[in-house]
Amino acid sequence: MAPHVLRTVAEVKAWVASLQKEGKTLALVPTMGFLHEGHVSLMREGGRRADVVAASIFVNPTQFGPREDLARYPRDFEGDLAKCASAGVTAVFAPEPAAMYPPGYQTYVEVTEVSQGLCGERRPGHFRGVATIVTQLLALFRPAVALFGEKDYQQLQVIKTLNRDLHLGADIVGMPTIREADGLAMSSRNAYLSAEERQRALALSKGIRAAQALLASGTRDTRALVEAARRELQAAGLREDYVEVRDAGTLSPLDTVAPGQTARMLVAAFSGTTRLIDNMPLAG
Ligand code: AMP
Repeated sequence: MAPHVLRTVAEVKAWVASLQKEGKTLALVPTMGFLHEGHVSLMREGGRRADVVAASIFVNPTQFGPREDLARYPRDFEGDLAKCASAGVTAVFAPEPAAMYPPGYQTYVEVTEVSQGLCGERRPGHFRGVATIVTQLLALFRPAVALFGEKDYQQLQVIKTLNRDLHLGADIVGMPTIREADGLAMSSRNAYLSAEERQRALALSKGIRAAQALLASGTRDTRALVEAARRELQAAGLREDYVEVRDAGTLSPLDTVAPGQTARMLVAAFSGTTRLIDNMPLAG
């Protein structure tokens, strides 16, 4: 069945109130649209964890920097609705920017520690924008469960932190990254890539896998692990934005991956002018 499209905050409030009256639990999947199998996996898991699934489709202006791709971010609302329908989504919230940031809007959410470094450093203001819109959505929908992808690993930690610190009460679920058959992490931004850029973009996942293999062979020094990933980026002619190994929970930088430690390698690189990110676990 086609999802119910909600456009305003008032419509969301009325819809959520009716769900509560019926005693139904809600799973929320926030997105920026141009949906792919990664988004769909979150929606399907939402359906397993709650009675009703809602998705939001909103290209949130406050999380884009002045030189980023807000204006040309890919959009396909009708296609997205069809994917939501097939994933069992009951309602889609697709507001205009003015619905979320009306005149007089002045409240922003900053998550100070896990937002540091990585994308937080390369995209100033990005996580402030993400934290602000996700806080608004969690406050509005009051979902029992909200699902996010590990693809955006630092974002997931930011959202877990704000949900805890602001007592928003959702169960924040992180879901594994869905990949193309050749290993490329699915992303709406992959639509920007030419065939050649897409081929070269495989170096992100190949690089992380090379680091995983090196760790498995006994090299625990994170500088060596980073170099292994970097070599793949360089061989493919990608411009590195960062390659780092961090603690998987706190995101603090690591010099070595200790036995039993859960670490994460996080990579950002440009294929042509398109900035791509990827990450995977490094098991100590
Ligand atoms: P976006 O539309 O890019 O803002 O993503 C919306 C949600 O989908 C976020 O929680 C992302 O982490 C998640 N997501 C994006 N790509 C993937 C993927 N390849 N696998 C799993 N989740 C993803």
